[in-house]
Amino acid sequence: MQKKLLLLGLLNLAFVFGGHAQKVNEQDSLTIRNIYDMALLNGKSYDWLDHLSNKIGGRLSGSLEAEMAVQYTKEELDKLGLDKVWLQPVMVPKWTRGFPEHAYIETAPGLSKQVNICALGGSVATSPLGLKAEVIEVQGLEDLKEYGREQIEGKIVFYNRPMQANLINTFEAYGGCVDQRYAGAMEAAKYGAVGIVVRSMNLRQDDLPHTGSMSYGDMPASKRIPACAISTNDADYLSRSLGLKPDLQFYFKQNCKVYPDVQSYNVIGEITGNVYPDKYMIVGGHLDSWDLGDGSHDDGAGCVQSMEVLRLFKKINYKPRHSIRVVLFMNEENGLRGGRKYAEEAKLKQEEHLFALESDAGGFTPRGFSFDTDTANFAQIESWRSLFKPYLIHYFELGGSGADIGPLKDGNVVLAGLRPDSQRYFDHHHAANDTFDAVNRRELELGGATMASLVYLFDKYGTKSSMQSVKN
Ligand SMILES: [Zn+2]
Repeated sequence: MQKKLLLLGLLNLAFVFGGHAQKVNEQDSLTIRNIYDMALLNGKSYDWLDHLSNKIGGRLSGSLEAEMAVQYTKEELDKLGLDKVWLQPVMVPKWTRGFPEHAYIETAPGLSKQVNICALGGSVATSPLGLKAEVIEVQGLEDLKEYGREQIEGKIVFYNRPMQANLINTFEAYGGCVDQRYAGAMEAAKYGAVGIVVRSMNLRQDDLPHTGSMSYGDMPASKRIPACAISTNDADYLSRSLGLKPDLQFYFKQNCKVYPDVQSYNVIGEITGNVYPDKYMIVGGHLDSWDLGDGSHDDGAGCVQSMEVLRLFKKINYKPRHSIRVVLFMNEENGLRGGRKYAEEAKLKQEEHLFALESDAGGFTPRGFSFDTDTANFAQIESWRSLFKPYLIHYFELGGSGADIGPLKDGNVVLAGLRPDSQRYFDHHHAANDTFDAVNRRELELGGATMASLVYLFDKYGTKSSMQSVKN
C-alpha cells in the first residue's frame, strides 16, 4: 500500500513538472482520435470514390470523363460549406488510345500467338496496317550502344528489364526500370529501330499490360516510332520464343492520336485560416488518370482522401489557423500541367505556402509519410511520432513528396507524401485492374484520417520557416 501511494505521488509530481507538454499532447491525442473516429465511423471518401470510379471511370486529360470529374468534385466540395471553392483553368494535352491495340508473335508463316499490349501514353500510332518486324531484346537503354545501329536498325527493340523483386519499397523497383518506358522509343529511334515494346512495370506475373507516359524529347514528328507495353506473362513468352527463334516477327497495331491542347481545370476548395488567412497549407491528389482502368488507386484515392481532410475538419468543428486548401490537380499522368499551373499562380499572387501534402501512392493501408524538408522541420515532425503510434503509423522519412506539389518547392515550403503500404500498388498501377473493387474502404479511410492528423499538427504548430517569418 505504502509503495502504491509513493508511486502515485511521483506520478503527480511528473504531471506538475511535465504539465505543459502533457497538456499539449493530450489535446492533440484527443483531436487526432476524434479525426480517426469521424473518418472510420462516418467517412465520405469511399462514396466519392465509388462515384468517380463507377459513374465516371478513367479520366484521361482532355477526355469527357475528366471534365465530368471536375464538375462532380466541385459540386461535392460546394456541399461541404467551405469558405471558397473554384476551378483554376489550365490547358492540357489530349491523347486518345482509339480502337484497342492488337499484337502477335509470329514464329513461322501462319504460326502466331496473340499477346496483350497497350500503347504507351503519348505514343504515335502504327501505320493503319500495323507494324511487323524482327525483335531485338535488351535489358535497358544502356544496351543500345553495345548492339549499335548494325543490329538495331529496322527492328523492334524489346526492353525486358524487370522490376527488382527484392526491393521492399516497390517505388524504388519502379524507379529502377521506368526509364525504359519513358525514354525507350526516343533512344531506340536514334539507332534506327522501327518500334519498341516495353515489359510492363508490374512485379506480378499476369496478362495485363500497364501503360504510362513516354517522351520523344524534341525529336521531329517524322522520326517518332510507336511504343507499347506488353504484359509480364507475354514479355516472358516473347523472351523465351526469341531464345528458340531469334528471327521471329512481332506484329502490333495501335490507333492512338494526339490532338491540340484543350481547356481543363484544377479543382480547389479552401477553409480560410482564422489567424493567418494569407498563409496556405494544401492537401491534394491528381484528378486525371489513365484510361485502361477507372483510376481508383491512381489517383482517385488521393483525391477523395484530400477532400476528406477538409470535410473532417468541418465535421469535428476544427477551425484552422492557416488557410487549408484541397487541390485536385489535372494532368499529372501525361504532362503535370495542373501542378505547374497551381505553383505558377501561387507565385504570381505571392501566396505563401507553408506545407503541401500529396496522396498519390494508392489507397492502401497508410504507413506514414515521406518529407522533402530541412532538418529543423524534420525534427519537429519526429517529435509527433508518438501521436501516430495508436494508428500504426510509423514511417517518417526524408525523401520525395508528390509530383503535383513538386513545383511549389522553394526552400521554405515543407513538402510531404502519404506513404501507404506499396506491396500491391504496382499490380494495379496504370492497368485495367486499377478499379474500385481493388480499394478497401477502411484502408482508404485510414489514409484520409492520417493526412488530416498531420495537417492538423502543422496547422497548430506551424512549420519552422513560418515561425521564422512570424518572428521577423
Ligand atoms: Zn498517380
